[in-house]
Amino acid sequence: MEKNYAVKQFGSWNNVEGKVFLGEALGLTGAQLSVQKLAPQEDAPFLHAHKRHEEVYLILSGKGEYQVDGEVFPVGEGTLIRVAPAGVRALRNTGDEPLVMCCIQYQAGSFGEADDFMVDGTIINEPVKW
Ligand code: ZN
Repeated sequence: MEKNYAVKQFGSWNNVEGKVFLGEALGLTGAQLSVQKLAPQEDAPFLHAHKRHEEVYLILSGKGEYQVDGEVFPVGEGTLIRVAPAGVRALRNTGDEPLVMCCIQYQAGSFGEADDFMVDGTIINEPVKW
């Protein structure tokens, strides 16, 4: 029987090399997920936007600047950024340490009524055994 989950271990975010797409490795069916490590002072090679996909960026470590539609703001460990498909975006590392980020990409507007856990979720009424 096929498992209902997949696990990918980096051990440490420092072990991420360049940009790694994880959709296939994790068997994602409704999103793309990538993690990327930017070297100190590394700049994005280009601005980009999307046609249909919204993105959420999670800054996992380091310090940098993010820009959307020409607005620039500081980001660092603990920052989350949502960008609508048309947002023209880029990220750069402005620090002396590597910056590691995770990007989740999914079709904008696809969540619909399932955005409430209690609409889509089911509580399994059994004690949790570990
Ligand atoms: Zn993108």
